[in-house]
Amino acid sequence: MHILLIEDEQKIADFVLEGLGALGWQCTHALEGAAGLAAVGQTRFDAIVLDWMLPVMDGMAFLGRLREQTPCPPVIMLTAKAELDDKLQGFQMGAEDYLAKPFHLEELAARIRVLVQRRTGQAPENLRLNGLELNRVTRKATWQGATAVLSQREFLLLEYLMQSPGQIFTRKKILFHVWGIDFDPQTNVVDVSIQRLRKKLTPPNAELAPEFPLETIRGVGYRWASQ
Ligand code: CA
Repeated sequence: MHILLIEDEQKIADFVLEGLGALGWQCTHALEGAAGLAAVGQTRFDAIVLDWMLPVMDGMAFLGRLREQTPCPPVIMLTAKAELDDKLQGFQMGAEDYLAKPFHLEELAARIRVLVQRRTGQAPENLRLNGLELNRVTRKATWQGATAVLSQREFLLLEYLMQSPGQIFTRKKILFHVWGIDFDPQTNVVDVSIQRLRKKLTPPNAELAPEFPLETIRGVGYRWASQ
């Protein structure tokens, strides 16, 4: 995986470069859009992480010029101000996803993975397992007549567990992969999120529906039921 990061804030750039590098991904860093375009002309990137407010050539101008390039890698925008106008403008200009600062590195990595997999056809838009359907684009989940649009974190949690049916995940592992936290936060954030997920997806006729396939393994963690 080779990622192009276009970001003028050195602190954020270091954080992203170090984090993605730790995943074994190759990263190229450009400080603004024109340098980013030059890099795209020389290297085939799997995805571009693009800051919106940049000196010289900003994110929007970069997106306008990027379209002239082939192949044109998928772009995820980073916006300091999570304003609707920026997001809409970015999407109109061809960005495929956005992330508001501050963000967790794991979340950025997960979004990049989805973009790349979607582009290469490895990850279908819908994940279907044990009768539950999860849409990777809209984050809509459907189970036995219940439908809910999940928060980004709930979506990542569900997708993470569904990708490995039958495998038990400890809270620690889930915290790391979904929240990007590698210490004990002294909270039950995982349990609360799982409860919320189950509640959101409670079928209209709950007593007649099969059991929700997300199982609690007492004292250990959680697992998605094997089929
Ligand atoms: Ca900036």
